[in-house]
Amino acid sequence: MVEKECRGHVVVLPYPSQGHINPLLQFAKRLASKGVKATFATTHYTFKSICAANVGVEPISDGCDEGGFTQAGNEELYLKSFKANGSRTLSQLIQKFQDSKSPVTCVVYDSFLPWALDVAKQHAIYGASFFTNSATVCNIFCRIHHGLLSLPVKLEDVPLLIPGLPPLNFPDLPSFLRLPESYPAYLAMKLSQYSNLDMADWIFSNTFEELEGEEAKGISELWPAKLIGPMVPSAYLDGRIEDDKRYGASLWKPIGEECMKWLETKAPKSVVYVSFGSMVSLTAEQMDEIAGGLKESGLPFLWVVKESEHGRLPDGFVESAKEKGLIVRWCNQLELLAHPAICCFVSHCGWNSTLEGLSLGVPMVGVPQWADQLTDAKFVEGIWRVGLRAKEDEKGVVRKEELVMCLKQVTTEGEKSREIKKNANKWRELAKKALGEGGSSDKRINEFVEQLILRANESYDQKREAAAAAKDIPNGHH
Ligand code: UDP
Repeated sequence: MVEKECRGHVVVLPYPSQGHINPLLQFAKRLASKGVKATFATTHYTFKSICAANVGVEPISDGCDEGGFTQAGNEELYLKSFKANGSRTLSQLIQKFQDSKSPVTCVVYDSFLPWALDVAKQHAIYGASFFTNSATVCNIFCRIHHGLLSLPVKLEDVPLLIPGLPPLNFPDLPSFLRLPESYPAYLAMKLSQYSNLDMADWIFSNTFEELEGEEAKGISELWPAKLIGPMVPSAYLDGRIEDDKRYGASLWKPIGEECMKWLETKAPKSVVYVSFGSMVSLTAEQMDEIAGGLKESGLPFLWVVKESEHGRLPDGFVESAKEKGLIVRWCNQLELLAHPAICCFVSHCGWNSTLEGLSLGVPMVGVPQWADQLTDAKFVEGIWRVGLRAKEDEKGVVRKEELVMCLKQVTTEGEKSREIKKNANKWRELAKKALGEGGSSDKRINEFVEQLILRANESYDQKREAAAAAKDIPNGHH
């Protein structure tokens, strides 16, 4: 019997950190919900942390199978090892499906891993680059790659005037622009995203038309991205993917029940949720100020302090904060943000956290630390106006008085907090609409799926014809 329509098979390849796995896995789930076969290809080290309905998971190697990133020693060595081992094992994975009922039609790869496009092309299949940063940040780095903006950006160069973007001042720029020497391997990686993009069949960006249409348009000739975000589990947006409340990936064990139970004891819209994402490591001085600010604000708070940072909490803080605060190593951030007791999100403004705050309509206080977080925080405060950015002092530290003042403005009834709440609701509705039936992002995803179906059927027809032709060839032995 001839098999029914084949809707294509995508292999989705993330950079193996929490902030990259989450949106790419969500994209895989979204494609699967539209009938495409989706296989998530992730490193051996992260493989066991992933579990998502309707998405297959397959391991590939970054050459650091036992210890992941830390095994490599540094970023440069890691990326080199990932490229060599990843190319080989991704190729093997594509090969493995070659003669199955659903050969791979397309590799959707994290833009941090441009070598995956070369692998896709070696196998004559589609390649799609998935950018996990804001369109604004992509606009900026694309310009640097093409020599339209040179580094370092100096004080006399600001405000930077870039097509599609608001004027950007020194504190709003991704930190690598001011200090290109600070993390050369990261900067090189950010720029390499654009190195072979002209070969890509699609470019996807985890943002949406209503949020960053102009920012993307400002660079569309060099970076013609389809805006398909926000890649946040469906339960918080359109609800069209059944039972989709979590990303389905957690590199650390989340403390769930304790958080929920604790939140149940709190009044609606009374608790500040504090998290600096998976990568940032605060200095002891900054931890001290955050701790002091939270205590002084008098507001109940739930603070995610990673294992590696615990030693930097002020002495006795955990004990003394017991009444008002809960400190956990890791949690399911979305479930907490969605809880009715939460009134404010103190965030480092990583792009996923920013999109989550926007999608769930939670007012924010940005305490950005480095890289793109500075730019995201600028937009949170100045463009989308869903929160405030806490200002740092000349030492680069946000003092407790500043944090208290921001928390006060965001959480106590007044003109500012009303404006922020109104905007937070507005963006939540727009995010829902973008991914809902017929919304801007939904349309872009559907167009992609249509192309995948076309290609899958073409190759299916070709195979069938080839098989039929082979049958017709007279057998030489007779
Ligand atoms: N996150 C989480 N639990 C935590 C803290 C963070 O699940 O306790 C998730 C968060 O929801 C987000 C991701 O980890 O999806 C962090 O990504 P982001 O881009 O915000 O920051 P990064 O970790 O890359 O700096």
